Amino acid sequence: MGLRASDTTDLILENCQVPVENMLGEEGEGFKIAMTALDGGRIGIAAQSLGVAQAAFDAAVKYAKSRDQFGRKISKFQGLRWMIADMATQIEAARQLTLSAAAMKNRGVNFTAQASMAKLFASEMVNRITAKALQIHGGYGYTKEYAVERYYRDARVFTIYEGTSEIQRVVISNHILKDKRKPH
Ligand SMILES: Cc1cc2nc3c(=O)[nH]c(=O)nc-3n(C[C@H](O)[C@H](O)[C@H](O)COP(=O)(O)OP(=O)(O)OC[C@H]3O[C@@H](n4cnc5c(N)ncnc54)[C@H](O)[C@@H]3O)c2cc1C
Repeated sequence: MGLRASDTTDLILENCQVPVENMLGEEGEGFKIAMTALDGGRIGIAAQSLGVAQAAFDAAVKYAKSRDQFGRKISKFQGLRWMIADMATQIEAARQLTLSAAAMKNRGVNFTAQASMAKLFASEMVNRITAKALQIHGGYGYTKEYAVERYYRDARVFTIYEGTSEIQRVVISNHILKDKRKPH
């Protein structure tokens, strides 16, 4: 659907033997190590969401200021101005969550929940923003003539990979409720 510059495939390892010297970490610690790697990756997906949202927003603002309908720029219509205000606010909220999680990672404190919050909010935010940005472009937004069509498709996977939105909610609620329940 999106991310067409990136090849996606599955990788199947059957009866695969790995030499002991190639083992990452201690035996039995694999799940924990994989989860720790995901924490950092989730900040990356939050930043990715933020970048696509900002690009879609900038494109929408530019378009709204250039498109004439009913004798004026469409950016003069209050309906679109409120949309733009709400979009800017959501992008800023996602930016602050992302920066805050990244700052915690840099400080070396536990940032698992904050990374999940940033990923959850930013990935859901970019899906709302790209949909609105496409809407502001009207019919042109649905065509390949404008980049917003690609932003809309690319954003769709952000609530899925590096842990779905549902799994982020599992991580966040487990952190708050302090039980170590597995996600099932
Ligand atoms: C373009 C793309 C690139 C990818 N790149 C990578 C990569 O580089 N490396 C990699 O390892 N993986 C990669 N993935 C895989 C991706 O991480 C998984 O698709 C994702 O984690 C979801 O797992 P799943 O598809 O098995 O969905 P499932 O786990 O089958 O989930 C299906 C649905 O059930 C929900 N669900 C599942 N469990 C729960 C639960 N406990 N509580 C509530 N809801 C639940 C999910 O949220 C989802 O809505 C990629 C996927 C795509 C599409």
